[in-house]
Amino acid sequence: FFYGPGQVHGDEVILTDDDAHHLLRVLRASVGQEVELCDDKGSCRRAVIAGVDHGEVRCRLGHELPDSEAVIRFYLAFGVLKGEKTEFILQKATELGAAGFFPFTSERSVVRPDKKAEKIQKRWQKIIHGAAAQSRRAIIPQLNPPCKWPDVLDLSKTFDKVVFFWESEEDRPLAKSLEGCSRGDRVLLITGPEGGFSAKEAAALGKLGIEPVTLGPRILRAETAAVVATAVALYQVGELG
Ligand code: SAH
Repeated sequence: FFYGPGQVHGDEVILTDDDAHHLLRVLRASVGQEVELCDDKGSCRRAVIAGVDHGEVRCRLGHELPDSEAVIRFYLAFGVLKGEKTEFILQKATELGAAGFFPFTSERSVVRPDKKAEKIQKRWQKIIHGAAAQSRRAIIPQLNPPCKWPDVLDLSKTFDKVVFFWESEEDRPLAKSLEGCSRGDRVLLITGPEGGFSAKEAAALGKLGIEPVTLGPRILRAETAAVVATAVALYQVGELG
């Protein structure tokens, strides 16, 4: 479970609302049972349930747990997709270890920025939070508000390395692109929407010196590519075992 500074009282953390409900009702946890608690800086500790009053759970903090986060932080900029496909990307890339997300719309996006953006953002946030807790992440990956393709270009300048996945013929393998990445680097992975990238969009990245990388000769669906790109990048730097 994740907690903020306001929930700390001495060596105890108070879980309330959804977390308390999940612990008591879903996990049927009781006093003496162990939980893992992570603060908002990614430090995780074992804890023991010390008491339950009025639906709040008091947990006594114990020893530090090993850090489960990847030493290279991979952020995923992906073309927003229709329906649950975006939710699939957020959940799976969170389980795999993505550090954050930049959903964007571009020329060939099928989905149009929705009027219910606020509600959708909240739903996406919930999916990421749940996947982070379930996969025992030390942090909750950061979800940025949907942006447009030009914003992605600006964004890419703030990363140590950018990898852009394009189903192009030249087979520039990912391994080459990730050579030289080291601890603490922030890497941006970019995958496109259902319709892919236009030549103009790809050229704009080329102008920034960002070479396309291939995931092989087969065309993956956008949601597959976003998740596979995350997995392959983490694997490439030795973060998936
Ligand atoms: N234009 C494609 C569909 C794009 S697939 C078509 O011919 O139908 C959606 C996104 O997945 C692409 O923009 C790209 O980022 C990624 N992708 C799919 N297959 C890929 C591959 N073999 N190599 C690299 N990226 C791929």
